[in-house]
Amino acid sequence: MTQTQSQKIEEKLYQNRYRVEEGKPHITIVPEKATAQELKMMAAICPAACYEETENGKVEIIPDGCLECGTCRVVCQGTGSLTWNYPSGGYGILFKFG
Ligand code: SF4
Repeated sequence: MTQTQSQKIEEKLYQNRYRVEEGKPHITIVPEKATAQELKMMAAICPAACYEETENGKVEIIPDGCLECGTCRVVCQGTGSLTWNYPSGGYGILFKFG
């Protein structure tokens, strides 16, 4: 992916707004179930870059900008690697263009 393509995606994502429910993330990693391979795959597939590989090689999730697309949920279905719920009513993503 070129820098120009990356900037375009970021610009598009910037059009969205999020209402974060402090202290209540709607997606969490279950460390005793999630494998490093799964988590690295999440970092690669999440369109909102909610999964991030840290300097020490671990993957963390910051679901504040989640698009609620469900991709990570589908990929991890049946593994128990994630807890995934929609945000409480009134919280989560607000799509500007529908
Ligand atoms: Fe990323 Fe979609 Fe999972 Fe949200 S639901 S964390 S946007 S892959």
